[in-house]
Amino acid sequence: MAEVPFKCIECNKEAYELHRDYSNGILKITICESCKKTVDKYIEYDPVIILIDAILCKIQAFRHILFNTKINIHWKLCVFCLLCEAYLRWSQLQGGEQSSDPADIIRYTKEWDFYSMFGLAAMELGVFCASVLAFLWLRERLRGEELQLCLLLKALLLSSYGKVLLIPAVIWEHDYSPLCFKLIRLFVLTSNTQAIRVILNCSRRLSLLAVIIGLVLETGVTYISQQLHWTS
Ligand SMILES: [Zn+2]
Repeated sequence: MAEVPFKCIECNKEAYELHRDYSNGILKITICESCKKTVDKYIEYDPVIILIDAILCKIQAFRHILFNTKINIHWKLCVFCLLCEAYLRWSQLQGGEQSSDPADIIRYTKEWDFYSMFGLAAMELGVFCASVLAFLWLRERLRGEELQLCLLLKALLLSSYGKVLLIPAVIWEHDYSPLCFKLIRLFVLTSNTQAIRVILNCSRRLSLLAVIIGLVLETGVTYISQQLHWTS
């Protein structure tokens, strides 16, 4: 049976086409047979509008991006987000350690700390994604259903785009920066929750539970790595 390439952004029903191209140059947007609405209204929209709706965590915008487009920048975005996070931690590390020791200056010059922060951020992201995927995979197996792991991983990575906001938050440093970092974190987790909900077409409670499990395990690994760092 042929794979259905698209989905209705309103009701999540599978669709074979988003529009029909008539030979005389007339395009007609497809109407969903299930909900009688436009299968994907965003194909007519400007990318800025789609981005705004994605920032507002609208489920239709998430469905459009994840099911009806061929966006394939999740790995590049992932590396960029990790660089942003590493830069944030590195800048906090430098701000917290006002040392005049020449050895420290050489160390900062070589930016070893930046690379270690990048490694730590990558490890945390890996633990978070692996925990979420493992939990949801197990749940789907128990229900006798298959989980599209690659698609879910792509959704998690794409929905973490909010981490790029860390860069302006660091550059325009002010008294409210710690609050900004917490709000950015909350925004990324909210986007992750919505992305899981879209891929699995599940309840908000389940996607929230998956994100909380990922967050708890990630925090645990961070705590252990910090303890090892201080005792070494
Ligand atoms: Zn529909």
